[in-house]
Amino acid sequence: MTQETRKPQDVPEANGWHRQTNVLHADTHIPAGFSAMPAPVARASTVVFPDLAAMRALDWKNDSQWRYGLHATPTSMELMQRLAAIEGGRHCLLFPSGLAAIANVYFALVKSGDDVLIPDNAYSPNRDHGDWLKEDFGVSVRYYDPLVGAGIADLIQPNTKLIWIEAPGSVTMEVPDVPAIAKVARDRGIPTAIDNTYSAGLAFAPFHHGVDISVQALTKYQSGGSDVLMGAVTTVDDDLHHHLKRARMRMGWGVSADDCSLLLRSLPSLKLRFEAHDRSALALATWLKHRPEITAVLHPAFADCPGNAFFKRDFTGAGGLFSVVFDGRFPGAQIDAFVEGLRLFKIGFSWGGAHSLAVPYKVPLMRTVTSWPHKGGLVRFYVGLEDVRDLQADIEASLKAHLVG
Ligand SMILES: *Cc1c(COP(=O)(O)O)cnc(C)c1O
Repeated sequence: MTQETRKPQDVPEANGWHRQTNVLHADTHIPAGFSAMPAPVARASTVVFPDLAAMRALDWKNDSQWRYGLHATPTSMELMQRLAAIEGGRHCLLFPSGLAAIANVYFALVKSGDDVLIPDNAYSPNRDHGDWLKEDFGVSVRYYDPLVGAGIADLIQPNTKLIWIEAPGSVTMEVPDVPAIAKVARDRGIPTAIDNTYSAGLAFAPFHHGVDISVQALTKYQSGGSDVLMGAVTTVDDDLHHHLKRARMRMGWGVSADDCSLLLRSLPSLKLRFEAHDRSALALATWLKHRPEITAVLHPAFADCPGNAFFKRDFTGAGGLFSVVFDGRFPGAQIDAFVEGLRLFKIGFSWGGAHSLAVPYKVPLMRTVTSWPHKGGLVRFYVGLEDVRDLQADIEASLKAHLVG
């Protein structure tokens, strides 16, 4: 090529490289002197090492080393540290969903021949995971009365390797005596894992009460936008953290920096949102207690909720969830019509976002070792951030329209 026909792209630039190479190798660091409140979004699969010695010195247990985007980036690390701080933990791991976080606890701690105890009112997909391990992987899985307390001692076998706790059950709201269960387990060297999603990690401090592992669906209140799926596993103990971290690496679970940054954006308002949900839910639940169509309002803050004494002792708030049981004279179809007749309460799973939700559940089909005392159908409400007067009017209108007789 002669000098005259060479295009600018073909002429080496001042540093000796061509334009295309310089575009790729631009300095990707945040310039010194720039400072802002939001955590920067660090997207990465490859993490680059300054030299081979640094690469070879990697130790998978060392959380302060950057190794591979799947394991951590500065954005996910920032989120992990803030989540651990909220619950009073020391380590946190992120997962692509709350259920993936639950699955990881099983993979880390349980092998064939082991035994697991799960509360009878546990989040249904956790139960289903337990059933799967039992059917296909040679794990013994047994369900227990969530109100068993220290009586859990009688259920423990030599091969029991994990005890799940959920406080409260997110449909039927029984509140377990967490410290009593945790103490029995700790005395026998069996790790306990709590599904702490209900409390958003704010209203219940699992490690203070002797629990070893806290699992949360960040999909709920931490996201707050009904738009991000993510889960967390938080711990205090180093060895336990390494066990869980190893399982996570082996399973290949990862989260995106973009999703982490959405959660980091929502976290500052987590407490205020939780308290607003709590206030509105309590107001609606109190009003519903006096409705003639309803025989029971299941809210942990109410004296007649099983485990209310533990709730008062251990929790600082309740958030937006509660359930009602309708009078047995109303057939399921009429309760379905009530739910479909709501305009502000949408029909859908999950919760923690701004919008109110309502879902009917068939509780007797969801448990196997405890009996359900109620005859009528159950509807769980999630109370969002709408004006509570409109939510009350919405429920009242649908009750009047559909629950006659
Ligand atoms: C939603 C939920 C989960 C699972 O979260 P996903 O992110 O939807 O997988 C786990 N436990 C409880 C109590 C939940 O409500």
